[in-house]
Amino acid sequence: MKKFFPLVFGMAFSMSAFSQAHTGDPKLTEIWDPVPPVVQPGKTAQDAPSDAIVLFNGKDFSAWSGSKGAVEWTLEENAMTVKKGSGGITTKRGFGDCQLHIEWRTPSVVKGEGQGRGNSGIFLMGRYELQVLDNYNNKTYSNGQVGSIYKQLIPLANASRQPGEWQTYDVIFIAPKFSADGKLQSQARITVIHNGVLVQNNAAIWGGTEYIGIPEYKPHAAKEPITLQDHGDLVSYRNIWIREL
Ligand code: MG
Repeated sequence: MKKFFPLVFGMAFSMSAFSQAHTGDPKLTEIWDPVPPVVQPGKTAQDAPSDAIVLFNGKDFSAWSGSKGAVEWTLEENAMTVKKGSGGITTKRGFGDCQLHIEWRTPSVVKGEGQGRGNSGIFLMGRYELQVLDNYNNKTYSNGQVGSIYKQLIPLANASRQPGEWQTYDVIFIAPKFSADGKLQSQARITVIHNGVLVQNNAAIWGGTEYIGIPEYKPHAAKEPITLQDHGDLVSYRNIWIREL
């Protein structure tokens, strides 16, 4: 049946077909195969759908490793919080193309300014940082704001909630592709919805995140773990789930 596709599109959607009157059999433009899989959605858009991998449900660190082995972050009230100086935590599994839901909260006690206030980050494939920052009435460089791909892509909006409130990221990430000899074939792409507001719209990532200098791509596996950053601030995370695409 798959062979039918190009034939249908060729017939129905060629320019010459469009220039003709839309008459004839409507069944010619119906596509019945493949059938999308049934996914049972969560009770709300925040809850994991049936085919999601739950990375953190507030109970344990079983999906994560710490920088020196066991995770040292604090686990309480169904959330995990950065333990300053213990390092980032990393998923045991690797992921490539994915849909990620993650909730985070910066400290209610506001301290520091700019990049020094409620800073953490979600490193997709361990390399591409989606910035987490308390950016509520807190000025910093635009490409380091909350919702930025750090030092690369400026977010389309600042949709920050107040410090101490839970915030959401819903991310669609397409991994970069490399040829067998390590040459970049296609850049990573990212879509981010921050608290229901689109802040990255299928944007092309320039390369691995760099604090100093120009980002560049270095070849890596098709699936790589996700890291959450310890930037020294007591940022918390909860309800993390992912769907592989
Ligand atoms: Mg950060």
